[in-house]
Parts: sequence; C-alpha cells; structure tokens
Amino acid sequence: MKLAEIAQGITAHLKRFEADPIINKMNEKYKTSPFYWPSACDSGPRIFVSYVSYQGHSSLKKAEALSYLEWLDAGNVGRHYEALRWMCEECWAWNDASDEHVCHQCERPKHDHNTRPQGAAEGAGAEGDERSGG
Ligand SMILES: [Zn+2]
Repeated sequence: MKLAEIAQGITAHLKRFEADPIINKMNEKYKTSPFYWPSACDSGPRIFVSYVSYQGHSSLKKAEALSYLEWLDAGNVGRHYEALRWMCEECWAWNDASDEHVCHQCERPKHDHNTRPQGAAEGAGAEGDERSGG
C-alpha cells in the first residue's frame, strides 16, 4: 500500500469522525472539538496527520500509519496515540509505540505473556483477550 493510499484511508476515517456529533462532541468548557478539519497527507517517507487543523501535525512512519489505518478499519475510534500505544499485561502500564518491544515500566518484553503456561492465571481478573486475528 502506498503512503498516499494510507493517508487517504486515514483521512476518510477522520472526516467521518468529524461529521459524527457523538464522536466529535464539543468540550463545553473549552469550546473545542476533538476533530476539526482533520487530515492526513503523505510527504516524503512520512505521513503527517492533523486532528485539529490549527494545532499542527504529528508525523508517522509508514509502519505506524499503516497500523493506525488497520486499527481504524477494525472499527476503532480515536487518534493514533490510542492506536499505537499498548498496555503491558504484566503491570498494566501504557507504552508508546516507541517502546516497541519492552515495557518501559517493568522492562518485560512486550509479548512475554504469550509464553506464560496456560492455567497460570488462577484467581486473576477475568479480563478476556479481545484481540482477534486477521
Ligand atoms: Zn510492564
């Protein structure tokens, strides 16, 4: 998938969010909306995404932008911050996309929990793993 196509896909989702009064609910106190003339455009090797036109851009690498688009295509609503961060299943700390492999808090590898033997979570909370394969 080309960068321009990824940018177009992200833009389409963002414009849909902007047009949705439930998603794009105005903050009564500050009179701001989470999405205002949002856009994503490709420039060089990166994609620049803007959720509020007067607040500047975030730049995403292609892999990040693609992950974000896939996350949006899966029906999620939000900005790339929500899409790209991940929660450590050991200590429940939120990690940025930059903490790609290791939790910044407990320093355990991201997928360490996958190696835990089954049945070891006795007495733990019944948090289901909602992740679905593609
Ligand atoms: Zn952790």
